Amino acid sequence: MKILRNNLDLNVALKKEQNIGFVPTMGSIHKGHESLIKQSKKKCKVTIVSIFINPKQFNNKNDYRNYPKNLKKDLKILHKIKTDFVYIPTITDVFRKKRKQKINLNKKDIVLCAKFRKGHFEGVLDVMDRLTNLIKPNKIFMGEKDFQQLFLLKKFIEKKYKSKIIGCKTIRDKNGLAYSSRNSLLNDNQLKLAAKITRNLLSLRKSLTKVNDVKKLMNNEYKRMSKEFHIKIEYFELRNKKNLRKVKEIKNSKIFIAYYINKIRLIDNF
Ligand code: AMP
Repeated sequence: MKILRNNLDLNVALKKEQNIGFVPTMGSIHKGHESLIKQSKKKCKVTIVSIFINPKQFNNKNDYRNYPKNLKKDLKILHKIKTDFVYIPTITDVFRKKRKQKINLNKKDIVLCAKFRKGHFEGVLDVMDRLTNLIKPNKIFMGEKDFQQLFLLKKFIEKKYKSKIIGCKTIRDKNGLAYSSRNSLLNDNQLKLAAKITRNLLSLRKSLTKVNDVKKLMNNEYKRMSKEFHIKIEYFELRNKKNLRKVKEIKNSKIFIAYYINKIRLIDNF
């Protein structure tokens, strides 16, 4: 495994490579990331993983400051699963060039996280534009765990570059909880609560297929979960998985949720 700490190293390392698979991450590598890397290794000749906590996608300074970091452990895991390259750029490496055109989301895309985290996806699109331009991957592997991110990036990157975005399924632990770097900020009780909420939502998904009034059941569940679990739910919506429009029927839909346990914001979709 080769560690690339600047753009010169990156250019030299990738110069002769073809069929590059790219897995962008913000580090604190977990089994969700590992599954993306495994997919990339299966489908591409070389795999490059980036570890970069992108300041531009944080709409809250404290959230950025407290974002979990674990480089030593990350490198150990990445080495173990035989990653070819790890790219760990500095902020200057990534944001050296000034943007010619500001990134703006379409009005219809300002839903879910885009509505509640102002500037977040503009920051994600900006960094992914830069990383794709630097790495020029054939395929980029991203998780359905961040479904809206996958949806927006697929449109943006595939329009501008030859790179294909490959969506990969959400990896969950034995309790159903989706692996997430932010889980390391939760204590044992909070983890148990997050798992309980997840189980509740997995079973709600099944119940929704059996009722006529989907909207009513969603509303009732929203109220029940807020009360029973004492959580602040930011959004809880059923949307079409192809275009992210709000829907009232279960066909081709997903439940999207963002909620807080204490001050930790968790998202998932079912
Ligand atoms: P992050 O490091 O949180 O920015 O995530 C990097 C990539 O890993 C993104 O494409 C995420 O969607 C993906 N990812 C995060 N958690 C999971 C998971 N539990 N299962 C599959 N992919 C995931």
